[in-house]
Amino acid sequence: MLAGAILAWSFWAPASASVAFDSKLREADAIRTSDPAKFQQILTDLDGLADSATKQQRDELEFMHAYQMVRMGDMRGAIGKFKELHAGAASDDIRYRSGAMLANAYAITREFREGLMAAEETIASSAGIKDRDTRHHGLVASGILYNQVGEYELGRRYARQVLDDGANDRNRCIARNLLVESSLHLGGPFPDEEAVGALRQCEQIGDETLAGFSRIYLARKWRNEGRTQEAARLLEDHLGEIESTGYQRLIGEVHSLLAEMKLMLGDTSAARKHAEAAIALNGGLVDSLPLVVAYKTLFDITEQEGDPAAALDLYKKYASAERGYREDVAAREMAYQIVRAQSFQQGKEIELLNKKNEVLQLQHRVSEQKAQSSRLLILLLVVLVGSVGYWAFKTKRVQVSLRRMAETDALTGLCNRHHFTQQSLQTLGQAARAGEDVALVMFDLDHFKSINDRFGHDTGDWALKKVAEHCRTFCRRVDHLGRLGGEEFAILLSGCDLRGAKRVAEDCRVRIASIDAQPSGHRFLVTASFGVTSSSLSGYDLAKLLSHADKALYRSKREGRNRVTVFDRDAQAWKQLQVVAGGGDPGMAPGGQPEKVVPDAGPERLTS
Ligand code: GH3
Ligand code: MG
Ligand code: MG
Repeated sequence: MLAGAILAWSFWAPASASVAFDSKLREADAIRTSDPAKFQQILTDLDGLADSATKQQRDELEFMHAYQMVRMGDMRGAIGKFKELHAGAASDDIRYRSGAMLANAYAITREFREGLMAAEETIASSAGIKDRDTRHHGLVASGILYNQVGEYELGRRYARQVLDDGANDRNRCIARNLLVESSLHLGGPFPDEEAVGALRQCEQIGDETLAGFSRIYLARKWRNEGRTQEAARLLEDHLGEIESTGYQRLIGEVHSLLAEMKLMLGDTSAARKHAEAAIALNGGLVDSLPLVVAYKTLFDITEQEGDPAAALDLYKKYASAERGYREDVAAREMAYQIVRAQSFQQGKEIELLNKKNEVLQLQHRVSEQKAQSSRLLILLLVVLVGSVGYWAFKTKRVQVSLRRMAETDALTGLCNRHHFTQQSLQTLGQAARAGEDVALVMFDLDHFKSINDRFGHDTGDWALKKVAEHCRTFCRRVDHLGRLGGEEFAILLSGCDLRGAKRVAEDCRVRIASIDAQPSGHRFLVTASFGVTSSSLSGYDLAKLLSHADKALYRSKREGRNRVTVFDRDAQAWKQLQVVAGGGDPGMAPGGQPEKVVPDAGPERLTS
């Protein structure tokens, strides 16, 4: 029954920027109980300034309008405004305060389901409200509603929460009243100090309505304990203050309680007087226990007086009032059960949504991890393929360089004997099958030993490299030029007859003889003696070709060196192609006469 008693709370919480608007809001707040007319005037003035106000200032103004509507009894209008603010106010505080006021307003209009829903939301958001008094107001408003629907445990819980949180005097008074009211209904003895303490607290803040409720609770406690006289006196002594509040529920309850107690005390006339006073409040006590008690008292008195007709009439009224009251209690309890069920349902739905959300998040994480794993796998594969490729490339390079090393003569870069042999065998095989001409030219440097001896081994090396370099220019891609060993070389010429081979040999000879030794730092001549044969003379057997060419070469040496000799298969005789005057001593000292070279006489066979 405390519901209507807690409206007079200070809800001013300035947080806006415009000073003028704020100061007017503050002024309105200060006089809203003392001068309702002026309060209304300021609100009207502020309405005119609302366009230039911030959203929060407009919300504050609307809140005051709603409050004013409650005072004027326009509960529907107030509920509409509080609902709007509760849903869409800019600040958490105004939304919270509007929720608490909604719970309060619904308690007054006895729309318990809606009130309980607002209370639940208020409690749920209370932890986020920083202003202590605002936070407590929401909690006590909800506690009052819970007591009204018979959920005294909850009423007690929020009352304790407020008291443990260092509440201000006003909220302390309300919370202590709530505690006492809960204790009375929950049964079991409780110390006087609790009820007396609540009364002192409410007397201290000078709120007669709240103090009136404290007295009712204390009187009930005493009556329950058999201290009826004391209880009646407590109420009678303060009846004036209680009636001055004009709060019908409070006044009605006091009268009905006094009626009941006076009858118990045997003071029938006082009992009747109080019962009639309670009933006279008429609409104020509809479906309430005080009305039931008032009729019951009157019925008992009438029955005692032996007036059965009047007693029957009062009994009917009593029974009807009791039915109304029981229905009201049942409706209130039902409202609570419905809201609980709805909340439970919502809770389940939220739980389900949360679970779904968790599953979705998990799925998202799994797919992210999968993508990550795929990326890693791809990276790993790329690295692996890269490594294998690099390794293969390196291996190939090593292989190639090893093969080249194995095939090449390190000094001249020409084929070594082994590789020359391999290549030549292959070429000869193909040529033999195709019936193509192949020719072999062999040459050996003349008196090379003396170059080494006179100018050193390095100079000898230099000369060998120069010879290789020059002779290479006469070879095509299909030919094979090799260093057979020491200062001995060979050229296998593909698709070349004896005449062509002889020309190549002669070109080589001339080119070697023309090597300028100057860059080596010495002056000397380099010459070579050549032996030539071909497949037409020696066939396609490499050993035979080499042997015949060597024989021809040997002949060139014998004939004086620096010349080309063609092998003569039939006669095993030799024709000298080139004659060097002076017997070929190419390593002659500078200034010596160069050997005379007889021009090539052609590819004819030589006879001895
Ligand atoms: P001939 O005209 O009869 O061929 O006289 P020659 O001095 O060239 O005869 P010989 O075959 O006896 O000498 C070849 C020399 O070539 C012997 C050796 O010291 C030299 N020689 C062999 N291989 C190399 C080499 O790689 N570098 C150098 N600088 N000299 C080499
Ligand atoms: Mg030699
Ligand atoms: Mg030699």
